[in-house]
Amino acid sequence: MKKAIIIGAGIGGIALAIRLQTAGISTIILEKRDKPGGRAYVYKQDGFTFDAGPTVITDPNSIKLLFDLSKNRMENYVDLLPIKPFYRLHWKTGKILNYENNIKDLEKQIAKFNLNDIKGYRLFLEYSKEAFKEGYLSFASKSFLTIKDMLFILPKLIKIQAWKSVYNIVSQFIENDYLKQAFSFNSLFIGGNPFSTSSIYTLIHALEYKWGVWFPRGGVGALINALIKLFQNLGGSIILNSEVISINAHENKANKVYSKNGQIFNADIIASNADLINTYRNLLSQYTFGKKKYINLIKKKMSNSLFIIYFGLSKQYPHLAHHTIFFPSNYKKSIENIFGKNFSTNNISIYLHSPSVTDLSLAPLGCSVFYALIPVPNLDNTSINWSEESVKFKNIVFKYLEKYYIPNLRKRLITQRIFTPNDFQNVLGSYLGSAFSFAPLLTQSAWFRPHNRDKNLTNLYFVGAGTHPGAGIPGVIASANITSEIILNDIIL
Ligand SMILES: Cc1cc2nc3c(=O)[nH]c(=O)nc-3n(C[C@H](O)[C@H](O)[C@H](O)COP(=O)(O)OP(=O)(O)OC[C@H]3O[C@@H](n4cnc5c(N)ncnc54)[C@H](O)[C@@H]3O)c2cc1C
Repeated sequence: MKKAIIIGAGIGGIALAIRLQTAGISTIILEKRDKPGGRAYVYKQDGFTFDAGPTVITDPNSIKLLFDLSKNRMENYVDLLPIKPFYRLHWKTGKILNYENNIKDLEKQIAKFNLNDIKGYRLFLEYSKEAFKEGYLSFASKSFLTIKDMLFILPKLIKIQAWKSVYNIVSQFIENDYLKQAFSFNSLFIGGNPFSTSSIYTLIHALEYKWGVWFPRGGVGALINALIKLFQNLGGSIILNSEVISINAHENKANKVYSKNGQIFNADIIASNADLINTYRNLLSQYTFGKKKYINLIKKKMSNSLFIIYFGLSKQYPHLAHHTIFFPSNYKKSIENIFGKNFSTNNISIYLHSPSVTDLSLAPLGCSVFYALIPVPNLDNTSINWSEESVKFKNIVFKYLEKYYIPNLRKRLITQRIFTPNDFQNVLGSYLGSAFSFAPLLTQSAWFRPHNRDKNLTNLYFVGAGTHPGAGIPGVIASANITSEIILNDIIL
């Protein structure tokens, strides 16, 4: 029986482990933290359950497929609840748009802003469906190991004018400034600047309307536990608190990994779900090709980082939406604030996660659980010192929420914790503290993104946000599908 080691228990790593184990490869996941999930880690604090990262679950079928492979039923492991509205969008001017979960109701919301834009929205939706067909159903399910693969998709990229930005395309169809923001912001979900990320990422809109937005009962942690349980039921093992410090190569093959606690694991197949740059920098630095690859990769543009405040309040707020987005007064400036050189804590947008609206079990009786997430620059931008400014910044965010949304927030505060770009770097091992790995630019996508298999070591593979197709739960699950297909083909050859 072939043996595989997967470094890291992020969603991509776990999905790959399930696929390999189902295919009859004896698979072990080595995870450096005390719990699996990676960005989807869970903090339990003072009776509150905080999902640390992803909260918007789209393409539930990609998750279900992982269970179907071994004729298990997802419903026996985890319960996905539909979210309505998908999001609530707030502006300081008092304008509100409910991003409803069906097109008819969404159009009624659009009409409140500009009746003329209904026609434009329908055209935008058609465009987004085309981007979804090419960008998700086609490119994201295909490996890009050779330049020929890229040449094959070129006519399709030209057809959808993929060189244009998300905002550019939205503006082509929609007149109203609020609506332009509403239909362009979601490239931020994968670390993409709406003003420079390829319009192909408008696919997110079509994807949400095709399959809905969901939340697992018990939180995203319940989904992670379900996937790990499935993997273990299939015979796979996961070892926690086991940080890999080196990958050993013999000739052109990777043959073992060393863990910090002194263990050595031999394997026929090694896949890294750890940060791609740090895999080369830290785990392969003893080899010339590892050093060279690291130097090449750091020339790429990394995505932004995030500042997150997890907090629990002594009150329930059933009227809130599960997902709320607060737009700043100046959208363009706030995006420059995230991706430019100077960062100001004044011009920010906030995503508020309020999961107690859907599931009361995540907080003690009568209480509710939240997180406020603010996109901020990665650590390449040194205009803010996070160790010094975090508390001040947290207070700015709390004051904002108090003024516009949750009166007396600080009086009701029971518990809180902060996660900064420094934590992305130090806790998750993300290069420059980026939240979504390499930025989703056209020049860093598909064949231009680090490949799912290493060029030098023929049995070293990658899975997760840093490789093709990219970040987001559907993205990293797609990367697991592609990597497992490459591995299984390599084994047969
Ligand atoms: C705050 C936040 C909110 C998000 N919201 C959404 C959302 O709503 N919807 C959505 O679809 N996506 C969302 N995303 C994106 C999505 O969560 C990520 O793209 C995805 O989870 C990344 O998965 P991954 O497989 O790349 O692994 P990661 O989550 O990056 O996990 C990698 C794992 O490798 C481990 N590791 C690293 N180095 C080593 C080592 N040397 N040895 C052993 N283990 C190691 C790490 O500890 C970690 O557990 C969000 C991301 C963040 C940060």
